[in-house]
Amino acid sequence: MFDYLIVGAGFAGAVLAERLAGEMGKKVLIVDKRHHIGGNAFDCYNGAGILIHPYGPHIFHTNSSDVFEYLSKFTAWRPYEHRVLGSVDGQLVPIPINLTTVNTLYGLELNSFQLEEFFESRAEKVEQVKTSEDVVVSKVGRELYEKFFQGYTRKQWGLDPSELDASVTARVPTRTSKDDRYFTDKFQAMPLHGYTRMFERMLHHPNIKIMLGTDYREIVDEIKWDRMIYTGPVDAFFDFRYGKLPYRSLEFVHETHNLETFQPAGTVNYPNNQPYTRISEFKYITGQKHSQTSVVYELPRAEGDPYYPIPRAENQELYKKYQALTELETRVHFVGRLATYKYYNMDQVVGQALATFRRIQEAALEKVEVKASATLGVRSSVNGTVMTK
Ligand code: FAD
Ligand code: UDP
Repeated sequence: MFDYLIVGAGFAGAVLAERLAGEMGKKVLIVDKRHHIGGNAFDCYNGAGILIHPYGPHIFHTNSSDVFEYLSKFTAWRPYEHRVLGSVDGQLVPIPINLTTVNTLYGLELNSFQLEEFFESRAEKVEQVKTSEDVVVSKVGRELYEKFFQGYTRKQWGLDPSELDASVTARVPTRTSKDDRYFTDKFQAMPLHGYTRMFERMLHHPNIKIMLGTDYREIVDEIKWDRMIYTGPVDAFFDFRYGKLPYRSLEFVHETHNLETFQPAGTVNYPNNQPYTRISEFKYITGQKHSQTSVVYELPRAEGDPYYPIPRAENQELYKKYQALTELETRVHFVGRLATYKYYNMDQVVGQALATFRRIQEAALEKVEVKASATLGVRSSVNGTVMTK
């Protein structure tokens, strides 16, 4: 008998398995249909001995000291600040758009104040910023929007930025300084020995059993379990009752080259003519020293494994219908990027899973208190301290 059946061994599932077993002594079975743990953050050594991310580049960054401290129990870190170049008009220039980007593209020598004026003179007035197009044209104008955002977004999502929520392109800021870091979070670091090693340490507990290469549906009626944590796609859980919830997929093309380095930055974005959105080179990200180098191309797809929820109003409406069903499932917690249909980064998923755990723990404490009060005739409890009359 398992106290918890956890579907999915990615961040959401692994954090909850670790907390439930480690903090509450629960017996946990964690099952994943893939043949490895780690979900999309899984990493491994390829045939050349280079540490790669099979599901695309995963760069850890967070402003949450709680999340960073929590994960630090399972890994040491290598400080890493990611940098991205955009291939535009035959040049490689920093993205997010910054002072260097504009000066290089237009052959100018603006300072930060002048760049602010440059942006203001080109920015379009938008009454209410609603879409991913609004976000960018209202800041930098249409020309830079078209060069950097429109083509990339159409490729990545199969939709024009005007059809996507503002939150999508709002992930990428605009800067008037020369700061060329992709992220500005307080904590930016990679697990020193990789994500998979970190996941192994999280799941190494006598109360946690791991079952890989298994769809939970194959075993859900065969084994005894009390509660479930579900981290797969929410529409699949309900057999697509209201129709398919759109998720965007990617095809990853991996290559290894007999070169010290393939490109001048960890990631190069291709907003325009190529079928891929970006190429990432792992050695920048992992810090590994090797005489060869491995890269991954990302080619957006409508069909395939679900990687990205697609943030737009009509999808959110459909998700709300599924969410209403999740609320009726009293024995199941829905957690993670696919199960809550949220375009979350790794740290946000960890934060969400830790919050779920706190709720589970609080509910368990309340239950104990109710039991205690029933047996002892206790009337009230304050701050978890049982008060007797
Ligand atoms: P997942 O990692 O998707 O785990 C869910 C697991 O459930 C999967 O392993 C799946 O196989 C399993 N599952 C589903 N259905 C079933 C079933 N029926 N039975 C059994 N198992 C099942 N975040 C960052 O912070 N930084 C980045 O740089 C970054 N880069 C990214 C790049 C790409 C290309 C992608 C796609 C995502 C990126 N992310 C990044 C986001 C990050 O991958 C997610 O936030 C995180 O991995 C989500 O964890 P999760 O546990 O919710 O889901
Ligand atoms: N984006 C873009 N051009 C870029 C980088 C990003 O148009 O050079 C847009 C695009 O819509 C992308 C979104 O901004 O999907 C978020 O970018 P991010 O790099 O955060 O995407 P992720 O790493 O999640 O795939």
